[in-house]
Amino acid sequence: MNFGSSRKSAINYLNMLNLFLLVSHTGLLILFAVIEVYLMAIVNVGSVLYYASGFYLLKRKKTAVYIRTTFCEILIHMFLAVISTGWEMGFQLHFVGCMAIVFYVDYFSARLGQSHIKSIGYCIASAALYLTSLLITKFAGSLYDVVETMKFVGMVLNSVAVFAFITVLFGLLTKMAAYYEEELGRQATHDKLTGMVNRHYLVDQLDAINAERKMANYWIAILDIDDFKKINDRYGHLCGDFVLRSLAEIIKKNCGDRTVCRWGGEEFVIVGDDSGKDEKGRRLESVLLDNIRRDVAIKDFVYDGNTTVNMTVTIGTTRYREGQTVDEWINVADARLYRGKKSGKNKVVDSD
Ligand code: GH3
Ligand code: MG
Ligand code: MG
Repeated sequence: MNFGSSRKSAINYLNMLNLFLLVSHTGLLILFAVIEVYLMAIVNVGSVLYYASGFYLLKRKKTAVYIRTTFCEILIHMFLAVISTGWEMGFQLHFVGCMAIVFYVDYFSARLGQSHIKSIGYCIASAALYLTSLLITKFAGSLYDVVETMKFVGMVLNSVAVFAFITVLFGLLTKMAAYYEEELGRQATHDKLTGMVNRHYLVDQLDAINAERKMANYWIAILDIDDFKKINDRYGHLCGDFVLRSLAEIIKKNCGDRTVCRWGGEEFVIVGDDSGKDEKGRRLESVLLDNIRRDVAIKDFVYDGNTTVNMTVTIGTTRYREGQTVDEWINVADARLYRGKKSGKNKVVDSD
């Protein structure tokens, strides 16, 4: 289930809910007509017409109006159903179901950019109508005499409906919570523009590996775009963003399963682990960085179909040395990057 495309999926869920309510009220209309509870049959004609027009309200994006009037419809409908048919038929159970739906719909209302509906107010109204209908039916009886068998069938159907409804709603809420928790976790650890892990996440990971003293065969590289400011100045920030995304793809393609990170701005960090690699394997690792440098230098970055941007990158790299902290290790790579910048750019610097 996708909760991601917020506005569209929220409208879809409300449309599904409206369809469900339209079908169930049509069923109730038929039921009340059959058992000759005419007041409720008439009420349900109004409900069916209301839910039929609900699609129109949702199409016109009048979601706040739709949500509020729907709750009023449900509360009035259930109140009249209880005092018409009596407590034993179980329509009062829907007041409880209504409380679950209030919070669910309130959530969607907020996601649609509408104000929060007064959930607590609806819950209090729900509870008040529940108790009022209890007192009325207890002391004044019901408006219609419904046969015992029908009452029993009604109680079973209403119970099943409310249990099913609450189960589905809480199931959906739990799924939504899990989805957003995962999404928030991703946003905290990943860069939105490139999809790479961010600096904060990478440093935490490296600190953890270093604490276990497992960094002996690691190497790190810091890559920085040359004169990126000029690209932004000449072609604009959107073009700059496009270039950053394209560069990220080149880095990812070359690096395979190595860790790649958007360190910040126009800087990227690559971390490799040579464990288990022979001399030839290690040589390939060092060729990798120059491949990236070359791929960038020869590429025409074509933005918007008509703007061709050319650029170069400078890379500073170093192997991990026993006893270094992660910060010290990164600083060595950074100092080499700086030397590369000072000595002409468009190069990989792997020694002091
Ligand atoms: P050098 O060759 O010395 O690295 O020069 P430079 O121009 O690349 O470096 P400088 O630090 O002067 O400028 C970096 C620019 O990167 C400045 C900033 O506006 C731009 N930048 C940082 N993050 C982003 C981003 O997410 N999108 C865009 N479009 N530009 C960004
Ligand atoms: Mg920079
Ligand atoms: Mg730069």
